[in-house]
Order: sequence, then structure tokens, then C-alpha cells
Amino acid sequence: MPELSTQFLNEAIEDSKPFASQGQVNTTIPNFDDTMKDLLGITIITENFDIYSAGDYNHIVPMQSTSKIIGLMLALKDFGKDRVFQTVGMEPMGDFFNSISSLESPDTHKPFNPMINAGAISIASLIKGQSVEKRFERYLTFLRDITENDGLQMDEDVYKAEIANGARNRSLAYFMQSTGTLVTDVEEALDLYFRMNSVMMCCNDFARVGLFLARGGVDPDGNKLIPDHHLRTVKAIMLTSGMYNASGHFAVEVGFPCKSGVSGSIIGAVPGKMGIGVVAPAIDGRGNSTAGGALIKKLSKDLNLNMFGIENVIEG
Ligand code: GLU
Repeated sequence: MPELSTQFLNEAIEDSKPFASQGQVNTTIPNFDDTMKDLLGITIITENFDIYSAGDYNHIVPMQSTSKIIGLMLALKDFGKDRVFQTVGMEPMGDFFNSISSLESPDTHKPFNPMINAGAISIASLIKGQSVEKRFERYLTFLRDITENDGLQMDEDVYKAEIANGARNRSLAYFMQSTGTLVTDVEEALDLYFRMNSVMMCCNDFARVGLFLARGGVDPDGNKLIPDHHLRTVKAIMLTSGMYNASGHFAVEVGFPCKSGVSGSIIGAVPGKMGIGVVAPAIDGRGNSTAGGALIKKLSKDLNLNMFGIENVIEG
């Protein structure tokens, strides 16, 4: 079996790059265009803090939907599991991530889970703070602690584009208000959601988030930032819903918790082993990076990272 090394990652990147041609760059994101189609970068940070990077790993992109796991962690810290899951469900959904039809379910109007847009807007409505600015500041502080990167910040142009292109998200939020599902200030929840989507990160930052989840919520200085029972919840929901409506496919083919964003970013958390950050902007129709997805699958197979792999339990 190959060993994790920079050379292995370089080869894995070359193998995965051709998959970029199966995707499209989301050009509604400022500065995203077709010249980025072949970008592919990765950073892996192991439980011992060994760092391996390859490809275009310094490229910075907006978090987009990868922000949903940070929002969920904060809401769980603020309100606990019972309250959070009164607001949003924990079931996977077969529809697209910005679907409105699922909110019309006759028995419950709750969004299916916190990884779809409606769910993440509901989660944003829970994050504590006296103003949007203060709530976003808490989000950013938590993210900076996790990544040990005090330089992380929101990109104003991306934020403006989120607002300008936010008709669907506004529809989801106002629909939830109409059914009594979203009871706080709708515009504030949306504003916070847009800001959270607009924070810029590179592969190392994404990998740090994955490592944080993989190492029991401990930051690089050894501080425990979130209880284990909340982490379990977040990782389970990433596994069942983190890759949009291809989550089942990734659970089978990758077998560890991942979360993707339409910027072509992917966070992977291999429990007890490593955090993975990938950036490859060409995405498929469901919102997942095509080359990034191929790369994660290859890593799982070649490095034997699938949590459900029998090889991981039978030894000697
Ligand atoms: N910012 C976009 C939205 O809210 C995309 C989120 C995503 O990465 O799925 O619809």
C-alpha cells in the first residue's frame, strides 16, 4: 500500500486532474472563471501535525457551503442538540441543496438537515450575538481558533455577490418564516449566512478544520473547543449529508465525513488520523468538485482511509 508523502500526493493530483473536464467553474463567484478549471490543490495534516501539500494548495477560495459545519458547531455550542434539532432535521435529502419543495412536507416544515441551504439559514438564525456583526465576529473567532489562522476574513466582493445572487436563499428563508419555521429576523439570518459563505480559505485552512474534527475538537494549542457529543453529531451529519445529494455515493466510495462547497472546496475528516483540505473549482451539477471528489476517493482507496473498511478492524 502506498504511504502518505508529497510524492504520492503529486501523483494522485496528476491522476485526478482529468476529472476537472467533467465540471464547470461557478462563475457567479467573483474572480472565478474558466481559467481556474484545472486548478487542483490539497493539504493533509496528520494527527501528529505533519503537513503534506501538493498542487495549487495556496489558492484561496470562499468557504461557501463548507461554512455550514462551522455554523452547526457554533449553534450546538450555543443551544445544545435538542434545541438545534427542533429547528432543523438530521435526515439526508435527495433533492438539490437549494431545494424549496422539501420545505412543503405536510408533517414538518423543518429543513431536512443543516447541510442544505434552508437548514444552514435556520442554523445561522440560532448563532448568538447582539447584532449580525457580533454574531459573525464569533463565527470568525471560532474559525480562526480552529485553523490557527488569525488572517482569515470575509471577502467584500464575494459577500456582495452572495447578496446580489441571493434570491433563492431569500425565498427559502421567507418561506420558512411563512410556515413559522424561522422565527427570528429573516434578513439578519440571511446576512449572517451570506457572510459565513464569504470567508476566504486555502487548502491548509480547510485541512485544519478537518483535523479539528478528526482530533476530537482540540485546537493546535491543545484547547478543547467543543464537547465530543457535538462533534459526533457534526461528523455523522457530514457523512450522511455533507456532499449534497451525492452523500450516499461518497459515504460508500470515501467512507469518512466530508463537506463540500460550490467553490470546489472539500473538507475531509478521517477520525483519529488526519484532516484533508482540497480546492478544485470545477464542480458537477450537484455542487461537488469533480477533480476534488476523484482525489478524495483515490486517497481513501490507496491509503485505506474508509472508516467502514474491514481492513481497519481486523489486525494481526
Ligand atoms: N453560496 C451559495 C448559496 O448559498 C452556495 C453554497 C454552496 O456552496 O452550496 O447558494
